[in-house]
Amino acid sequence: MSSADLHTTRRARDLEALQREVVDVLVIGGGVTGAGIALDAATRGLSVALVEAEDLAFGTSRWSSRLAHGGLRYLAHGDVAVAWESAVERGHLMQHIAPHLIRPLPHVMPFYEDSARRDRLLVPVGLQAADAMRALARTPRGTLGRPRHLSASQALEMAPGLRAEGLQAATLHWDGQLIDDARLVIAVARTAAAYGARIITRARAQSVAGDSVSLKTPEGDMTVRARQVIVAAGIWTGELDPDTPLALSRGSHVLLDPEAVGRPRAAVTVPVPGELGRYVFALPTADGPVIAGITDVDAPSKPVTLDVAPDDDIAWILERLSPALARPITASDVVGSYAGFRPLAVDPNRDTTDGGAPADISRRHRVVRRSDGVITVTGGKLTTYRRMAQDALDASQLPGSCRTATLPLIGAQPRRTPVPAGVPSRLARRYGAEATRVVSYAESDPVLLEPVAPGAGVLGVEVVHGLLCEGATTVADVMERRTRLSTIPAYAVARDRVAEIVEAHR
Ligand SMILES: Cc1cc2nc3c(=O)[nH]c(=O)nc-3n(C[C@H](O)[C@H](O)[C@H](O)COP(=O)(O)OP(=O)(O)OC[C@H]3O[C@@H](n4cnc5c(N)ncnc54)[C@H](O)[C@@H]3O)c2cc1C
Repeated sequence: MSSADLHTTRRARDLEALQREVVDVLVIGGGVTGAGIALDAATRGLSVALVEAEDLAFGTSRWSSRLAHGGLRYLAHGDVAVAWESAVERGHLMQHIAPHLIRPLPHVMPFYEDSARRDRLLVPVGLQAADAMRALARTPRGTLGRPRHLSASQALEMAPGLRAEGLQAATLHWDGQLIDDARLVIAVARTAAAYGARIITRARAQSVAGDSVSLKTPEGDMTVRARQVIVAAGIWTGELDPDTPLALSRGSHVLLDPEAVGRPRAAVTVPVPGELGRYVFALPTADGPVIAGITDVDAPSKPVTLDVAPDDDIAWILERLSPALARPITASDVVGSYAGFRPLAVDPNRDTTDGGAPADISRRHRVVRRSDGVITVTGGKLTTYRRMAQDALDASQLPGSCRTATLPLIGAQPRRTPVPAGVPSRLARRYGAEATRVVSYAESDPVLLEPVAPGAGVLGVEVVHGLLCEGATTVADVMERRTRLSTIPAYAVARDRVAEIVEAHR
């Protein structure tokens, strides 16, 4: 057992301690932002508790495009500060924090006879500017390669599903891709736990004051006292802090059979006609479907969760991606979909949301300190979670300084570390240095090294690890967040096997 492990015995101990002690920092929200704050605070030497209403990565943090990106899009919008922050944080993530969870992904942007002249001229300039930021952020070339021009045949070699007819040339650039966004959240939270943070899921904050939070948990209601309360509740922020302005935008993705897009080695990025700095993309994943996206649609301010992307969003993505492909994508190529909501920070002094598209609202984050001392963090991105956490803690009056820029997460190891004998490469990609431990659960039960459903890839040992070490307690925790089986309806057949393992190891 490791000090990073989250399990029921630890929960009982932590809940009991929280009835007695006054913690330095109480964080509300177990998405990437809240987990990042818990880790930052714990590594400053502060006592910390994080409370999450449902499960780690329950909210927006599991519905991203899984890119640790340098912010090319923000450059196109002239948001240089956000692009710079993204480039710096991407570098920290890929070099030090989670090199095991993030791989460099090449992106090919094709240009056809009818591509807009503006895109042909501006995209290469933007790529050079983004690469200059990479260099200034000290992310080595060995991590993210040089952007360059590709001939039509070179582009087709990297992305064979591209439409060859009319293809004139392409650009190539590199960005970071997460193996799984929810896995990043879990790794951040467990690393915080290793530094002593009390990570309590299924604990809903009902009301918030400057020095305390009232909680509803399955074990009963309780009040936790804290020197600093920080709200990182994403799209639910308004339920705890109605005065913090927030705009919600829906982003949908479609999951495609890789064959439908020619099993690309590179992401295909296509400018959206008529919109500056907006793209649709198809991202190959290491061992799953191709992720195509993304919409940016104004959403009602009342938080909701969706099981699948709306039909209109799916159609919007397919219509814009298909013209760049040899064979237009049809419904039969779609193996799943998902939608998430961006919690966009609205700065009353800078943003006017009236009539503006959500795509135009900056992706910067905001840290606001209320008169009673509660700090609320909104906006930002998965890529910049660490900086958001640093800014939130710096806004408190607590002692200590930030240490997280080069702090490796649990499982972190250099990218090209050889996979140990007997360890499936899938596990090395997901668990890094912990993969050997994950395999070891099968020593007494070799069947656990088999997939939980045909074709699904997920192995029984991953379910066991989720239960013993990653805070999963239910079949849904495993299907939806420790593995991502639930995003592909065909893998619903795995549920019985997952339930069997949950029953045996809970
Ligand atoms: C479609 C889409 C694609 C994106 N793609 C990318 C990308 O590729 N790269 C990137 O960098 N960023 C991306 N983002 C942005 C990124 O995903 C979000 O900025 C980030 O995940 C927000 O994390 P969060 O922790 O602030 O919110 P959340 O992940 O939503 O976490 C908030 C948590 O608070 C909990 N909570 C709410 N109320 C309470 C309460 N009362 N008590 C206790 N807990 C509570 C919730 O259950 C939830 O788990 C994308 C966003 C979307 C929507």
